[in-house]
Amino acid sequence: MEKYDLKENMLDFIDRQKILSLIKDEKTPTKEEVRDIIKKSIEVSEALDLSDVAKLIKVNDKDMLEEIYQAAADVKKKVYDNRVVTFAPLYASNLCVNNCLYCGFRRDNKDIIRRTLSQKEIYEEARVLAGDIGHKRLIFVVGEHPASGADYIADSLKIIYSVKVKTKNGYGQIRRVNVNAAPMSVDDLKKIKAAGIGTFQVFQETYDKELYSRLHPKNTPKSDFNYRLYALHRAFEAGIDDVAIGALFGLGDWRFEVLGLVQHAKELERIFGIGPHTVSFPRLERASGSELVGTAVSNDDFKKLVAILRLSIPYSGIIVTCRETPEVIRSIIPFCTQRDASTKIGIGAYSERKNSQELNRQQFELGDTRKLDEVIGELADMGYITSFCTSGYRCGRTGDHIMKLLKSGVESRFCKLNAILTFREWLDDFASDEVKKKGEKLIEKELDEVLKDNKRFTPEMKKTLTTYYEKIRSGERDLSF
Ligand code: SAM
Ligand code: SF4
Repeated sequence: MEKYDLKENMLDFIDRQKILSLIKDEKTPTKEEVRDIIKKSIEVSEALDLSDVAKLIKVNDKDMLEEIYQAAADVKKKVYDNRVVTFAPLYASNLCVNNCLYCGFRRDNKDIIRRTLSQKEIYEEARVLAGDIGHKRLIFVVGEHPASGADYIADSLKIIYSVKVKTKNGYGQIRRVNVNAAPMSVDDLKKIKAAGIGTFQVFQETYDKELYSRLHPKNTPKSDFNYRLYALHRAFEAGIDDVAIGALFGLGDWRFEVLGLVQHAKELERIFGIGPHTVSFPRLERASGSELVGTAVSNDDFKKLVAILRLSIPYSGIIVTCRETPEVIRSIIPFCTQRDASTKIGIGAYSERKNSQELNRQQFELGDTRKLDEVIGELADMGYITSFCTSGYRCGRTGDHIMKLLKSGVESRFCKLNAILTFREWLDDFASDEVKKKGEKLIEKELDEVLKDNKRFTPEMKKTLTTYYEKIRSGERDLSF
């Protein structure tokens, strides 16, 4: 690992001039060039070079785009099998000292009703998520404020992990809590590491430093571009080796953000030998008190950029959220590894059973408000198995260990086995009759595939799968590979 000093070496590793000149170059790549790049991606070793990513961005030919989409789906299947992991966000506080022009939580927004959940209220939210909906994985979200700093986050994680609710056939629990919060110091990160954080997620919003400074007013902590750029370096320093990157699409030129994300992934690979565990591409949504229009990314460009990200950082998980409409999600789900469902982003909205969207209580407007049951039914119709797997992190499959497993295609075996087991749990505890029927058909197919496959699955794995499966049917929970 290369040595570097966080204090003295906070250099901007995003090469703005290089990215701008790659975007400016108008040469369209040949079919052979595109196919060569796709071949590199399918080998799943490291993030693609920026010049290759820029070439993919320049493809506009319909047939070549179809090849890119097919390849993106193939890479996803190779690395993660045909499962989609599901999760829910838990918004705990909308207090914020920053003033990001695009966000409903911005300090100067007087329209929003401010609130920070107490630990008791957080427990209630987690109880509904784990006991009524059946989620096992959350992303804990807060604005940046002393009331919701590292101690608050650490206490909240502990409270969430303490929830255990009796369900129809077993019990419900939140087994993994990821965090999306402001960049922190190494000492603060150590606190949330000790409390059992899954992934630490920080979105750079825009990798274009000039645009960044226009959107994040001076004299707010978030105006420091480089401090944010090094948020995940500090996470590694604190021992959190599971980190996630993202950019807010629609603020500036989407091509710049794609190249910025890839450069960020390459930097983490270079310094720590590990890239981001996941990549997110939230698109700008309407927000209370914000009139920012941005540069809208069309649905066609959105599909293209997600496929390109899938190919460019082939080992990373790719997360789509309920910001998007069902139709848009359906168009990109073949490239994605995670999505949320039954999502509410109002503070306290799960336990208060708020069904309507109240813009004065939430950060932005959601595009998909369907229930988890409906989403799972739809995924099953499309041939995807929903997974509630959280075992990678808890079995020590994180950091460079998981990177090796992902790159070699070994992790996809665990993905398949754990999807079957956790899906079975959910079907027995939470599914409607209709979705249970669909899900059982899918499980039958998946089990059959595993039992017949002697190349990927050893006799031992098959035996353990069958034993665990039967135990889950009789009410045991949390058995995984
Ligand atoms: N406050 C922390 C921060 O800014 O890093 C984390 C929480 S913030 C609630 C999570 C993310 O929401 C932001 O990083 C941003 O990308 C996204 N976001 C903000 N405003 C948005 C909007 N209007 N539409 C879609 N996503 C938005
Ligand atoms: Fe605060 Fe984050 Fe919203 Fe900016 S994006 S105003 S930092 S909550």
